[in-house]
Amino acid sequence: MPPNRSEESTVTAISLFSGGLDSRLAAKLMLQQGLNLIALHFCSVFVSEKNAPGVSDIQSTAEEYGMPLINLDISDDMIELIKEPEHGFGSGLNPCIDCRILQLQKAKGLMNETEAQFLVTGEVVGQRPMTQQKAMMRHIQQRANVAGLVLRPLSALLLDPTIPEQKGLVDRNRLCGFSGRQRTPQIELAEKLEVHDYPAPAGGCRLTEPGYARRLEDIMKCSRMNRKNIELLLLGRHFRIDSDTKLIVGRDEKENGELKNRGSEADLMLECAHYPGPTSLLMGCYCEKNVQLAASITARYGKAKNLDRVEIKSWGRKKLTLEVQPAKDENFAGMML
Ligand code: SF4
Repeated sequence: MPPNRSEESTVTAISLFSGGLDSRLAAKLMLQQGLNLIALHFCSVFVSEKNAPGVSDIQSTAEEYGMPLINLDISDDMIELIKEPEHGFGSGLNPCIDCRILQLQKAKGLMNETEAQFLVTGEVVGQRPMTQQKAMMRHIQQRANVAGLVLRPLSALLLDPTIPEQKGLVDRNRLCGFSGRQRTPQIELAEKLEVHDYPAPAGGCRLTEPGYARRLEDIMKCSRMNRKNIELLLLGRHFRIDSDTKLIVGRDEKENGELKNRGSEADLMLECAHYPGPTSLLMGCYCEKNVQLAASITARYGKAKNLDRVEIKSWGRKKLTLEVQPAKDENFAGMML
């Protein structure tokens, strides 16, 4: 008879939990078998809060499922990974294979700390071209040193039995054999398991977005891949002034406020002195030519863009007052990232 564990179950697993439908279903299938689950959620500067389930949603779902939640920020590891991923990139700057290896390695580290016996993921065979083909799934788990320890309840019947199945810790007969990109089986299973209010499938990883990848590539070329510069990619219009210098111009009040908060004494902040307009952040080389250009682009995006001369004030690295002509679009269009 299949195991049907009680509340005192001593079987504990770590469930990689993105909060999306597949990870919810995988967790539910395991909880149905009476296992103790610890939810592990990876966050990073590369995950879009707009498109991915937010931390508070994940927290409340984990609570509802009775799973303690570990939020692990892997931003610094990802920043290093992107510089030279062993397995290359996907369609954008997404190093998916190395990213999955990293996630499983991190999860393995937590297995040791929490005495969990294995890992659970919501992966579905054939759902993603890079990381969810059978041979690649095997390769990834071998490289992460978790061969036999990754149970994928949604596709388990299509995969070799894992160690927890072989040991009888989990009943393989109560697992699924889903494959491919079709969502219908998951939606039907969600009905059965009473999994409601799950988010619509959406990317979530900015590294797959072409516009974001272009901006990121620019800071990679200039060897300025640090957390501050990566976080700044989400704000404003970006201009590459020269190989060392970048200008970011706020697009609305919220971004202007964010730029003010994030600029340091080492950066140059600019604003129109007497008219509404953007806050700009100049980083890199502060020679007169660059400062003048940054000031004229700042004037171009302000309310006084049609005047002949606009006064711009700066603070941070240098306190200046400059009078500039608002830049003409054709003179800086090529600098826009
Ligand atoms: S899409 Fe992004 S988060 Fe997902 S595996 Fe690829 S790099 Fe990692």
